[in-house]
Amino acid sequence: MPRKVLLIEDNEASMLLMQELISKAKLIPVSARNLIAAKHIFSSSAPEEFLCAVVDYDLPDAPNGQAIDFALDSFLPTIVITRQLDDERRNAILKKPVVDYITKENAQVFEYLSRLIGRLQKNKKIGVLVVDGVRARRSQVVDLLRRHNFITFEASSGEQALNIMQRFSIIKLLLLDDDGLPSMSAVELLSELRGIYTKEELAIIGLAAGKRTGMSARYIKSGANDYLTKPYCHEEFFCRIMQNVDYLESIELIRRAADSDFLTGLPNRRYFFEKVQISQKHQPQQQSLAIIDVDHFKQINDSYGHDCGDYTLKEIAKLVAEHFTDYTAARFGGEEFCVYFANIDHETGVAVLEKFRESLAAKIFKFEKITFHCTASIGLTSRSKGGINAMLRLADQHLYQAKHQGRNRLISD
Ligand code: GH3
Ligand code: MG
Ligand code: MG
Repeated sequence: MPRKVLLIEDNEASMLLMQELISKAKLIPVSARNLIAAKHIFSSSAPEEFLCAVVDYDLPDAPNGQAIDFALDSFLPTIVITRQLDDERRNAILKKPVVDYITKENAQVFEYLSRLIGRLQKNKKIGVLVVDGVRARRSQVVDLLRRHNFITFEASSGEQALNIMQRFSIIKLLLLDDDGLPSMSAVELLSELRGIYTKEELAIIGLAAGKRTGMSARYIKSGANDYLTKPYCHEEFFCRIMQNVDYLESIELIRRAADSDFLTGLPNRRYFFEKVQISQKHQPQQQSLAIIDVDHFKQINDSYGHDCGDYTLKEIAKLVAEHFTDYTAARFGGEEFCVYFANIDHETGVAVLEKFRESLAAKIFKFEKITFHCTASIGLTSRSKGGINAMLRLADQHLYQAKHQGRNRLISD
């Protein structure tokens, strides 16, 4: 992954600000005070190490945007910064294939720059499909998207779009122009897509000519996330794209947070049930379920404190994640973990669990100046009659036996 950002700026204050925000984004600022210095730096480093360039419009040795041309000729996605912005300068900037421009007005603008650079990194993993019957217009949109590092796909008809969507799961955003589509209409395509993807899985932005009143409303009513009225300006185009992609990512973050346990980061009980239910729809030949319960955990809390208890749970969770990557494992609550095996024979389940139990027993826990050991008891069932709840009951009964017989052991049917 390229990590460097080339900064060409002669103003000391804004240079400092930008260096700071780039470092904060875990990227490496490479600074030049003028064009000559930038050329020198760039020629002595590997171009693929650079994510992008942030370039001042007027520099002592490049007063008319020449440094922008240098960055663009070096194939760097380029963000322009400028002190003043009149129509003439804006047009001059937008004539060039730059990512965007920002004006040095206030701190908010630098926040925007930070967001933009973050997007340039993340966009490399996001596919965008442009659906438009008119080739020239499609290419224009694709060109704009590529400047922002998106992976682009093109379709000239609704049928082709559906086909591409089926093949490339990387596509998260679809731009749809109704004008010039043969056979299947934009609204028909929209409704087909919404039968497959929710608004949170695939964002769709409809492009509508300003003259055609009502089209934007039809897009929204048919399931589009957003629309853009043509003709649109660059700034508007990129703002809408950013907003929609940001939205998808926020939803994804929330979803992930809802599925995982706060303390350990492992999947939680809710997610476990969901995953097991999905797995059961495929009618597995064999199913097993294990409950792992830490032995005398209360004693750890009582002897060393609650923070030490938390630390212990996090360490055990890491071990659970390592040992059961190929299966469904979760923190079920408190000091209990659950593992579900589908299409794995009973003996294999026992072997995997025993290996986990032994590594836990052998592990040396170190918290502050305390060193201690910890074990767990396991109840396992491979009798799947009665569904997940019956399996949980059986596993729990075996777990009880394991505790009763002295702990640090596995009991199964
Ligand atoms: P046994 O071997 O019979 O399972 O004994 P145990 O002490 O492990 O079982 P018990 O159910 O009596 O106690 C479990 C303890 O786990 C009680 C509870 O305070 C503690 N616990 C549950 N969740 C957390 C947590 O998130 N953090 C910490 N530190 N403790 C927790
Ligand atoms: Mg317990
Ligand atoms: Mg316990």
